[in-house]
Amino acid sequence: MRLKALLWPAGLWLAGVLAGEVLGRAAGWGALGGGAPSGRRVVLTFDDGPSGRTPELLAVLERHGAKATFFVTEPATRACPEGLAALLAAGHQVEAHGRWHTHALLLPPWREWAQLRWHPRAAQPGPHLYRPPYGGHSPLTRLLARLQGRQVALWDVEGRDWTAGDPTVLAAQTLAQMRPGSVVLLHDGPAVTPALLAELLKGLDTRGLQAVPLNDLPPRRIGLRAGLQRLRTSYGR
Ligand SMILES: [Zn+2]
Repeated sequence: MRLKALLWPAGLWLAGVLAGEVLGRAAGWGALGGGAPSGRRVVLTFDDGPSGRTPELLAVLERHGAKATFFVTEPATRACPEGLAALLAAGHQVEAHGRWHTHALLLPPWREWAQLRWHPRAAQPGPHLYRPPYGGHSPLTRLLARLQGRQVALWDVEGRDWTAGDPTVLAAQTLAQMRPGSVVLLHDGPAVTPALLAELLKGLDTRGLQAVPLNDLPPRRIGLRAGLQRLRTSYGR
């Protein structure tokens, strides 16, 4: 009898996890994704910083006259306040990646509320963007984000700099997926990222594409068709 009583909540929880995974992270319906596939603008985004790697990334971006968007965490900004100051001084867009670098499904609602509440520019007027760690959503994430005045911002191309592959190969794979309006996921931390970034910016220069902050794209909400496309690339290969 006791086991039976636990089945319903466990089933509901599992359904919530699956809905969050499929509708939230993989399809991304309702979150911000890439921009319109016209024009010459693309966006490079860096998660998890600031870090000891930030000055190298800033130097590469400056050499190419490119602006990027950095999704920073509260622990990283506390550990590396000079990195946050350098990002802001260089004119890059700085947005939130959370008070903890924890997947939404591991945060009870009150912790996710605090997770979304933290923002490095909370005292300034919005829009305030939030990129969930691992792109993870609970079914509650959108509602909590809306109540806090945050917009969930995802990406449409992965730079795969967490795989520690060869930077030239990673850059070629990333450039092959990029089109005008693309938003690329990269990280402020891995050793490979500065060299990968240099290769990417060279490739973008060759194609006449310009890296701009996310607000200048601007990103669009992921609709039905774009969400289905994301599902196919998430689970189809
Ligand atoms: Zn992250």
